[in-house]
Amino acid sequence: MSHLLEEYARVAGEDVVDHLRQLSAPLEGMKVVHVNSTRVGGGVAEILEKLVPLKQELGINASWEVIEGDAEFYATTKSFHNALQGDRVHISDDELRHYEEINEANAEVLRPVLEAADIVFIHDPQPAPLLGLMPDRKGIWIWRCHIDVSRPHRPVWRYLRDVVAGYDASVFSLAAFAQNLPHVQYLIPPSIDPLSDKNAELGQDEIDAVYREFDLDPHRELIVQVSRFDRFKDPVGVIEAYRHAKKFSPGLQLVLAGGSATDDPEGMAVLKETEAAAGGDPDIHILLLPPDAHRTINALQRAADIILQKSTKEGFGLTVAEGMWKGKPVIGGDTGGIRLQIINDHTGFLVSTPEGAALRIRYLLHHRDKLVEMGEKARSFVRENFLLTRHLREYLTAMVALTGKAEDRIEL
Ligand code: UDP
Repeated sequence: MSHLLEEYARVAGEDVVDHLRQLSAPLEGMKVVHVNSTRVGGGVAEILEKLVPLKQELGINASWEVIEGDAEFYATTKSFHNALQGDRVHISDDELRHYEEINEANAEVLRPVLEAADIVFIHDPQPAPLLGLMPDRKGIWIWRCHIDVSRPHRPVWRYLRDVVAGYDASVFSLAAFAQNLPHVQYLIPPSIDPLSDKNAELGQDEIDAVYREFDLDPHRELIVQVSRFDRFKDPVGVIEAYRHAKKFSPGLQLVLAGGSATDDPEGMAVLKETEAAAGGDPDIHILLLPPDAHRTINALQRAADIILQKSTKEGFGLTVAEGMWKGKPVIGGDTGGIRLQIINDHTGFLVSTPEGAALRIRYLLHHRDKLVEMGEKARSFVRENFLLTRHLREYLTAMVALTGKAEDRIEL
């Protein structure tokens, strides 16, 4: 067994890695290409960085391509994102035309790789038109949607539906997101990599170092939300929750740690709104971190008493699983993929308002035994359900099914 697979076997179990080997055997040597729109920042890049090498370890000829666009393209795809998550955003014909043109330019560059591929995974709406630009494709094409499309703004979804209808299959993170499409749909929630810098065990020295670096007091309570500065992540709502909770825990500190994704043009505006809401409170630490600050984020999540993810819409929310894996209760918005991870009052709390979040913060900070117990349950729940190995097993199953390579029997 390769070194990497051995390490996963150590964390997830030998049997889990055995299943992966069994499922990947019929796919050995196949060319599998993943395409998305950013190499760093956001959950999709975070996942591909690990999923692609692990497929390679299993003998699959996997690769990862990133499309390139200009500011106007990313502004339009951000509008897509916002509209698919329910905002009533109008996207003009000119914007759509430019979106298609950028895809045409990328199609020219990627054509040799994509036409030769056995399986292509296209992630999210940004590169979705590529399929229509590959008349000579020979492989199976799968649209992988990471967004909460449970209640999309209809005019935008109608346009995108026509773009993605031609795929052989699509993958959504949960049943509530599945759509009326003329092909098979798989429900595969994302995952975290327990061996990555973001999630590996850390020594106390690294945790102490973040207290010093960001001027945090290790003797006072700390709540942390890690997120891009995006309105759906509700950073301003987190500040409101903190303010309510601080009335009962005067020493409370808040970290809002974020960075920007190269395909997210709204980050700076939301960061400014967040800073304005913080109003110079010295116990609110708004951190703009570089995209490779994985160990710092890991240490901040470990330093926290409670993790927040107060999103109002969320495709999955890797940060929830990341916090839970570190044995922390997570207080998360009652929406989308967060509902899959937080079993209310068991692995964390689901909330709908800043006041609700503040009540839960107050409760946990005053019931330390409950806080510890919830954190332990949260970690086991992630081990059972949201590690990379489970995610890969489900992708492999879909790939085997779609390529018709299934043997008579696969022992799962
Ligand atoms: N992340 C990061 N730096 C940041 C903000 C987020 O590395 O400044 C990571 C975070 O730890 C998580 C991912 O980016 O792994 C965000 O994924 P999630 O599903 O939570 O949200 P998305 O950004 O995809 O909406």
